[in-house]
Amino acid sequence: MPTTLIDQYYHKIQEMKLLTSVANLLEWDQQNQMPPKATKARADKLALINKLHHERMIDKEFARILNNVYEQRDTLSDIDRRSVEFTKRQYDKKAKLPTAFVEKFSRATSHGHTSWVEAKEKEDFSLFQKDLQTILDLSKQYADYIDNSKPVYDVLTDDYEEGITSRDLDGIFNTLVKELPPLLKQMKKKQKKNALEGRRFDKIKTRAYIEKLVEQIGFDFTRGTMGDVPHPFETSITEHDIRINMKYPPDDIGYSIMSGIHELGHGLYEQNVHEDYHQTDLRNGVSQGIHESQSRLLENIIGRSEAFWTYALPLLQEHLPDEMGHVTVDDIVHDLNLVEPSFIRTEADEVTYNIHILLRYQLETDLLNNKLKVRDLPEAWNAKMKELLDIEPEKPSLGVLQDAHWSMGAVGYFPTYTLGNLNGAQLWKRFEKDHPKWEKKIAQGDFSEYFNWFKENIWQHGSFYQPQELMKRVTGEETNPDYFVAYVKEKYTNN
Ligand SMILES: [Zn+2]
Repeated sequence: MPTTLIDQYYHKIQEMKLLTSVANLLEWDQQNQMPPKATKARADKLALINKLHHERMIDKEFARILNNVYEQRDTLSDIDRRSVEFTKRQYDKKAKLPTAFVEKFSRATSHGHTSWVEAKEKEDFSLFQKDLQTILDLSKQYADYIDNSKPVYDVLTDDYEEGITSRDLDGIFNTLVKELPPLLKQMKKKQKKNALEGRRFDKIKTRAYIEKLVEQIGFDFTRGTMGDVPHPFETSITEHDIRINMKYPPDDIGYSIMSGIHELGHGLYEQNVHEDYHQTDLRNGVSQGIHESQSRLLENIIGRSEAFWTYALPLLQEHLPDEMGHVTVDDIVHDLNLVEPSFIRTEADEVTYNIHILLRYQLETDLLNNKLKVRDLPEAWNAKMKELLDIEPEKPSLGVLQDAHWSMGAVGYFPTYTLGNLNGAQLWKRFEKDHPKWEKKIAQGDFSEYFNWFKENIWQHGSFYQPQELMKRVTGEETNPDYFVAYVKEKYTNN
């Protein structure tokens, strides 16, 4: 047994990190390889692992060690102190949750995810309705356990983006709603036919191309893999096992590439946290809003630029000569930057994307405040989409059933996507100050300026700084929507 208090603390932390790692691996497998009939057994395994983790977190002996070491935090090194403070915040939340509740929530989301997949496949919301109701009820109960003096939404969002409140979010969305629709109207006149339409792309060749791209930009395949899933995501099993998971629809190579680069942005962040943090619980990206800034800026600001395609198109033509031989950089940049209201959030352009988030934010808030019943959700979704984007989905897979988040219990999560877009534009502005000639480098396939700057300023710090503290440290101010608005205005009105 370790003798010093801080060593005892890390010894306990290691065990919990291992359990989290096992749970992440089981979840990754559930989405990649697992046959559908294994669902029940998998739900049992995950519930057990989550229960064991929770028991260790609220264990009396751990509480004693943590509270003692927290008392002495001013005598610790910076890393140890931050780690202890970070864990104490988690502990103070977890300690309020009964173990039976944690197990129940885990089981509800395992079932919820399965029924969501089935409901989406069969285009039948009613198959998911009951599980969604359970997840929302449990989310409210969760917020009640954590802090019943705050609005439910604020408590839920705090788990993904520390310190952000619905008041902050209302302010941000008010700015965006004022600025984006007029820009959208202007853009609608500029549409041309999509040059990539009507083509089919071989999955194996597409995958091989994306693998090349991902490696060139900086993904380390000795410490990561690329999976194949119905809904792209990134997961960190351990610091040396980062998995980016993609999908390859044969009729939409733009989606395959852009979502691949998006997940790469998450993967690079996770792979490049400083090794001094590996043994601590600061070893992951700090929040969803900072994480998403890294994926969105790589996907949109770099990945949809002329500079990027000057490098990436010849490589694509090498992999898919028959399908892509005739395409020019202008064609592909034009296609990847079309602005048009669409049904699917993950395929939305930069201008309409945040409107998709606003829709979910408003519906989630109404559901949690009992202003909207779950059974009326599909109808409310369609009406909102008509109101905000002037389009109406014909089937649930294009509307209310398109995202996995609610089925996995991630209620209050969606606004972090918008925070990601805003943070991304704000950080990029700062990056451009240091590297005004970035386009020249990237056009040559040289990603070192990008990689080194973000590694130094964001990635290496893991969760050492809190999200708004990090934004302030790097850009001089907290999240400010003006940078994003200026970025889309400049990009889309000069096109
Ligand atoms: Zn993402």
